[in-house]
Amino acid sequence: MTNTASFRAPRGTYDRLPPGSRDWQKVVREAEDLFGRAGYFPVDTPAFEHTEVFERGVGEASEVVGKQMYTFEDRGGRSLTLRPEGTAPVVRAVIEHGLQRGALPVKLAYSGFMFRQERPQKGRFRQFFQLGIEAIGSASALTDAEVIEIGHRFLRDAGVEPRLLVNSIGHSAESCRRGYLRELQGFLTDHSDELATDDRERIGSNPLRTFDSKEAATTSVMADAPVVSDHLCAECRAHFELVQSYLTDLSVDYEIDTRLVRGLDYYTRTAFEWVAGGLGSQNAVGGGGRYDGLSEALGGPSLPGIGFAIGMDRVMEARSGGPDVDQTARVYVVALGDDARREGLMLVTSLRRAGISAAQDLSERGMKGQMKDAVRMGADWAVILGEKEMASKRATLKNLHTQDQESVDFGSIERAVRS
Ligand code: AMP
Repeated sequence: MTNTASFRAPRGTYDRLPPGSRDWQKVVREAEDLFGRAGYFPVDTPAFEHTEVFERGVGEASEVVGKQMYTFEDRGGRSLTLRPEGTAPVVRAVIEHGLQRGALPVKLAYSGFMFRQERPQKGRFRQFFQLGIEAIGSASALTDAEVIEIGHRFLRDAGVEPRLLVNSIGHSAESCRRGYLRELQGFLTDHSDELATDDRERIGSNPLRTFDSKEAATTSVMADAPVVSDHLCAECRAHFELVQSYLTDLSVDYEIDTRLVRGLDYYTRTAFEWVAGGLGSQNAVGGGGRYDGLSEALGGPSLPGIGFAIGMDRVMEARSGGPDVDQTARVYVVALGDDARREGLMLVTSLRRAGISAAQDLSERGMKGQMKDAVRMGADWAVILGEKEMASKRATLKNLHTQDQESVDFGSIERAVRS
């Protein structure tokens, strides 16, 4: 870059600007409240981790680790990676601080930016924002149902009409997924010359992922592939049936998608995804699942867990209706002259201290310009401080909906606008 006038945000990133930025903040706050009411405590982990956390926790054969991580060496020669997802860091933090020694499950909620070097397109960024919860230390199907219901509720409250897809991918035993994977590998090997090259190379390392392939050649082969749900052991089958019956009790509508596999290696049993219309090809708004093997993969104790991550960028895109036009200030102080502006500053500040949003003109506009500004901010009230008002120490209070005016002494303005 030679010329500072041409600086732009890096490819795949964005600036979040007004007025939509406020809508975004509101949706995130509502999520945090919802998660909090269900007992999920906020947690923050660093934006970068030792690279091994993701190599072990997500799996080296995964797309994310193999192709998409922002990995760098710091000045001390350590390999660090900007987090591409939130679950492995949260589980790393739980183990590091021994949170599992307290009451189980450990219930945590996070929100923050994630980083993946993907090819940018509509709904796909290199820095994107996820909200997620994790329940760590419970294998109960009740926990699966709780977690799924919370994510579903959040999406519906946010104005998204999601379709919920669920599946079970079993656990890593010969009697369950491992046996199935051998059958799948056999099937893929038989059809290897029909598969796209990238997918052919995955037969040995990560055969499940061929279900996620976007290559037409591969998808047509996969239509006849054996599915994991037909090969579940009795325990995994019973667990999945319980999850479904709890979701039915909670009136959470779901569809079983036997081809739904999660792209990350540590997933076990329940896998789920929410998709929404109007998003084009990137139609997944969130997803999650059980990760009973993750803690051990990160060197911790055996700790079954489940969680989800929802992509805020896609939630905001899929929401019905445009941005809520928010009021910037309930009360607007129209001040004319230096003394009035000084009085206005005190008045605006005392209203704000009392919890009422208030603004005043900061550009020395005339009466007309200030009234226009008040309307632009969606104010309910204008407090007019002109020469006459300053002399009598009584402001003119104008209701901007009815246009009614009354004279109010300075000390009574707060009470008047509350009524
Ligand atoms: P994943 O961890 O890949 O299952 O992602 C969970 C959710 O995060 C997805 O359903 C998307 O809503 C969102 N997401 C994942 N990758 C991106 C991306 N590159 N850009 C925007 N949102 C993303």
